[in-house]
Amino acid sequence: MPSILQVALDTPLHRLFDYRLPDGLGRVPPGSLVEVPFGRTHRVGVALTLQTDSPIGADKLRDVVRVLDDRPALSPDILRLAQFCADYYHYPLGAILLATLPPRLRNATPFVADTPWLVLTDAGRATEPPARAKAQRALLDALRAAPQSRDALRAQKQSRHATALIETGWAMWARLPPEAGDAPNTAAAPPATTEQQAALDTLLPTLGQFGVHLIHGVTGSGKTELYLRLIDAVLATGRQALVLVPEIALTPQLEQHFRRRFPRRRFATLHSGLGEKDRAENWLAASDCDVLLGTRLSVFAPLPRLGLIVVDEEHDGSFKQQDGLRYSARDVAIARAKQSGVPVVLGSATPSLESYAQALAGRYQLTELKQRAISAARLPDIELIDLKHIPLDNGLTRPALQALSETLARGEQSLVFLNRRGYAPALYCPSCAWVSPCPRCSARLVLHRTSHRLKCHHCGFETRIPPECPSCGNPDLKPLGQGTQRLEETLTAFLPAARIRRIDRDTMRPRAWAELGEAVHGGAVDILVGTQMLAKGHDFPNMTLALILDTDGALYSPDFRATERLFAQLMQVAGRAGRADKPGRVLIQTAFPDHPLFRYLQRHDYAGYARELLAERKQLDLPPFTRQVLLRAEATTMDAALAFLQRAAQFAPDDASVSVFGATSAPMARVANLERAQLLIQSASRLALQKFVRDWRPQFDSIKPRVARWSLDVDPLVF
Ligand code: ADP
Ligand code: ZN
Ligand code: ZN
Repeated sequence: MPSILQVALDTPLHRLFDYRLPDGLGRVPPGSLVEVPFGRTHRVGVALTLQTDSPIGADKLRDVVRVLDDRPALSPDILRLAQFCADYYHYPLGAILLATLPPRLRNATPFVADTPWLVLTDAGRATEPPARAKAQRALLDALRAAPQSRDALRAQKQSRHATALIETGWAMWARLPPEAGDAPNTAAAPPATTEQQAALDTLLPTLGQFGVHLIHGVTGSGKTELYLRLIDAVLATGRQALVLVPEIALTPQLEQHFRRRFPRRRFATLHSGLGEKDRAENWLAASDCDVLLGTRLSVFAPLPRLGLIVVDEEHDGSFKQQDGLRYSARDVAIARAKQSGVPVVLGSATPSLESYAQALAGRYQLTELKQRAISAARLPDIELIDLKHIPLDNGLTRPALQALSETLARGEQSLVFLNRRGYAPALYCPSCAWVSPCPRCSARLVLHRTSHRLKCHHCGFETRIPPECPSCGNPDLKPLGQGTQRLEETLTAFLPAARIRRIDRDTMRPRAWAELGEAVHGGAVDILVGTQMLAKGHDFPNMTLALILDTDGALYSPDFRATERLFAQLMQVAGRAGRADKPGRVLIQTAFPDHPLFRYLQRHDYAGYARELLAERKQLDLPPFTRQVLLRAEATTMDAALAFLQRAAQFAPDDASVSVFGATSAPMARVANLERAQLLIQSASRLALQKFVRDWRPQFDSIKPRVARWSLDVDPLVF
């Protein structure tokens, strides 16, 4: 009887592939990575079940080439999680399984991981070597005290003895040093605040089982400290913790903080900023680590002893992937926690309305931290500068400049927030009204003065700044509006004595954060100018003024999530001001000072605003009161994209509980020369919607002509 192996491959097809398993390859447990022929090439796939028969007929099947035993098989819990994603996001299982792997392990080239640590095996720990073998004995004793690095052993000319110990089975090379030494696992923590203690009293007894806990805590209330204590409790039981953070830039800081608190624990980090080799090594190391810290992709990492998942800044949009498998790492984290029977802790100063509504409905357990942990730290005063009455000069008002110069005079630091990088959002011709269009997108080219270029922030198109108007020849082109570069220039002109630093995606690489932190802490910076990047997770005690410019666009945006997002952003920026013993002040320039958002913001009243927004969403039948799926189509003409969606709508299953809206062009109708259209489907029932799409999707492939590319976005965040 032939053995037939079902293999999942990274293809757009929603199916598995059968291969014959030659006798010599031995046992192939599900999750093993195998190399198989596919078309004229070979591919890496994931072995699933073994069968005795195939509808194709065993004699027509091709053979599995080999089992890749240089890397571990995907574990049953990852296979289960991938199946959940395949069902929920309507995405091919094989593509998901391969996407859980770091890129380097998706190809068949053998991978040799670095194993820089010599550690004792169980046998080594138990043994008493003969007294004669002095050198070996000394090394064994050294290993009992602490693992030894390969480099150190080489430097001490101990490599030969290391090899001897390995050959006897007393030691082995490992990727991570195991816990060792006499130092305690945990360094001193500050005594918990009353609120933190109350939170711990409710949370600690629940750690043994699945549950979703939402921690809503104002900035500086000590959420991180709370995570650390929960993690500590979980590690003490021999389990692992997974901590998801929104930004690569935040991992080094947080890692440092964690390492200091847990000096003997093993850490691993995972994010897309790592090189391919490091990413593969760290992924392999995740299995044996105590704490894995990483961005959204780490939600799929192998963690055989998983005991707790923490999602920090759970409201952050970067947890949602915007292409390929459009998953939300927060939601997948919840699914994983549920499958594994472990708790998941979501934390934020401004939870997503999705999570908050779940908490209000009692499905998530809500924990609130209302006070800042350092008792002297008050929440800042928030004042509005009314642009209807106070004129702007180069984007700034007189009161704003006044506040900046006073802060400077006191030797304190300020932060100026403008969520638009570049010099100006566009270049403008006053004589014919040409406004630097991107030739490939329905967007404007952004003026970048320092690099003398016009750049599209959507498709990456770049060109030189034209010497004259391309449309009418006028040589006198003007920057239109303000970007962070221009703001920096304006501030330098107004406050020549100030030391100004700009932070945005044009100036920051992940490594630059540590340096910036030092510069700000050391007092080498007076004014930080930047985009939302600077709003995240920094704790600068001498920062007492936050100035917020030009956020009015979001107040009346067609995107129904714009105010939720703006509120979160402003709370976060405001949270940067006055974190230690000095009172903070926040100034907001706006032409709409009567907008309700500001009223709640001034009271630091997230809960109030959330309730108001939720009431509005409920009335308008918007998420979280309804579930949405977006069918997106791209084609070279808008007609083709729309025609595809209209055809698709005709195939829609008959279900009264699901509404199918009309096909429309996307708000950003053209990107990189492709026209984009979309079709919204929604239902109050997640299950009904899921079944609807499951029955519907297979029809898409029969739609002719095939000129449009489609994708499904479940729980879309961006339209
Ligand atoms: P959040 O993550 O909620 O913004 P953090 O955990 O970063 O807050 O804490 C804010 C500040 O308060 C940090 O400087 C932190 O060291 C301090 N802190 C947190 N908990 C305590 C505590 N129990 N006692 C003293 N200081 C604390
Ligand atoms: Zn012109
Ligand atoms: Zn473009």
